Amino acid sequence: MNKVGIFYMYWVRDWADDFHPYIDKVADLGFDIIELQTGTIESIGPAGRKELKAHLDERGLDFTSVIGLPQEYDVSSEDKATRERGIAYMTDLCKAMGELGGGIVGGITYSYWPATLPPGVTDKRPYFDRSVESMKRMAQAAADHNVILAMEVVNRFEQYMMSTCQEALDYCAAVGHSAVNVMLDTFHLNIEEDFIGEAIERAGDQLGHFHVGENNRRPPGYGHIPWTEVFNALRTINYQGPIVMEPFVTPGGAVGEAIKIYRDQTAPIGVDEDARRALEFVRGLMK
Ligand code: MN
Repeated sequence: MNKVGIFYMYWVRDWADDFHPYIDKVADLGFDIIELQTGTIESIGPAGRKELKAHLDERGLDFTSVIGLPQEYDVSSEDKATRERGIAYMTDLCKAMGELGGGIVGGITYSYWPATLPPGVTDKRPYFDRSVESMKRMAQAAADHNVILAMEVVNRFEQYMMSTCQEALDYCAAVGHSAVNVMLDTFHLNIEEDFIGEAIERAGDQLGHFHVGENNRRPPGYGHIPWTEVFNALRTINYQGPIVMEPFVTPGGAVGEAIKIYRDQTAPIGVDEDARRALEFVRGLMK
């Protein structure tokens, strides 16, 4: 049975907020996993990670993590110094993850986020090639610390490198390392893929992490994502990995701005109860 989680950014407005109150909340709501921000796992230092690990263990919670690299760490950049800075940062993130026993780093580690190709540029191949070369080195750092780097496929308005599952598979094949695989997200699949179920099936055993969210970024159950198709596809490929919801419903703060939340989408029942019902909904789909 897949473990089900939620990204703690559902409740907070700042990318670097404190994890601890949300560990209790997420455990109390009945989730198996809390998804954390990888950059914060690194920035809290060894003592902070010790406390984090103790708290997770105490509450019996697993964790996953995601990050969208800032542009200063763009590992696909034309500028070699920027690429080296990005690889060094990713190596630090892997080391920090290693202190927690390793785990998944999802999101956009192959470029930066949010990103567009420079004006006038239509050929992304040089960015792809530089990214693959960087990722080969990052994969080694990941493997050294028991980390899996899952390449999240995101929609064209947020990134250009890979908009479809096939593009991510091509990228992973070019890297050719078992520490690098594919991450899909129903919010993005809904925008870019011809058929959502088919895209999930195409990922097959390369699927390393999975985000569930509605077309409007609300928790699963309040939009028009074809959930039966999604979960049938996950069953077809026998996906055993984490299933993490990533709702964003509240405007404001760095998170609301980056995700472009321009209206209050919180449910009248409140965000906690909304998450609890979404968890029930997802577990129901897994049966
Ligand atoms: Mn996502």
